[in-house]
Amino acid sequence: MTVLIDCHSHLTAPEFDADRGAVVDRARAAGVAQIALVGQDDRENLQVLAAAEAEPAFLPFLGLHPDRFADRHPLPDPGLVEAVAAQIRQRAGAIRGIGEVGLDRWVSQDEDRREAQADAFAQLIGLANELDLPLNVHSRSAGRRTIDLLIERGARRVLLHAFDGKASHALRGVEAGFLFSIPPSLVRSPQKRKLVKALPLEALALESDSPVLGPTREERNEPANLTLTVRAIAEIKGIGEAEVCGRTTENARRLFRLDG
Ligand SMILES: [Zn+2]
Repeated sequence: MTVLIDCHSHLTAPEFDADRGAVVDRARAAGVAQIALVGQDDRENLQVLAAAEAEPAFLPFLGLHPDRFADRHPLPDPGLVEAVAAQIRQRAGAIRGIGEVGLDRWVSQDEDRREAQADAFAQLIGLANELDLPLNVHSRSAGRRTIDLLIERGARRVLLHAFDGKASHALRGVEAGFLFSIPPSLVRSPQKRKLVKALPLEALALESDSPVLGPTREERNEPANLTLTVRAIAEIKGIGEAEVCGRTTENARRLFRLDG
């Protein structure tokens, strides 16, 4: 059986504190050999690094989530982007990439917040270019702008996670060589089905986004559910599950430069 790669998860989340080891065991049993762990701010980035040191299946990504600029939070300390950038520089040799980063115009409706969010994203895109690291990118209600900004800033190694925009915008990303990781919520999302239909297999990868975006809204999601995404992609594309496994893993390996 081809191994699978979960390109985006939050397994450091407190939802997994009671049984993280069992979750990873179930992932392995389901064929999920490697799991990207993304950090959302300087504090969580440290948890990501510690978890990856203890568990070789984890691929560490350090980032700054755009929801740190949400209207509901106090505006982050102006030094936060610099602090995260310093963490990334310091650990550049030990991490797999930069993320979670991106744009979220749903949680930030205020124009000043949106501007601060876009500035932070642009800075971290620049850092990814400089260090030649892949970006693990969030976009919500900002599909077109996210793709535009990445292209405009010359980003080369990009994973768009759980992209919620239109397929036409995604296709411009495909042209730029970006990958799109598809979560298990594909089984219940008409928008994700459209996206999978429109994008070529060369542009697809798998993710869980654990603990969210599972096959049902109510249940905690986990990496073992990638098998459900594989089945759904195979059915939508009218191809075999083995081909979906092989191609998505190859795509992720190429982007993250993992040994095959
Ligand atoms: Zn995420």
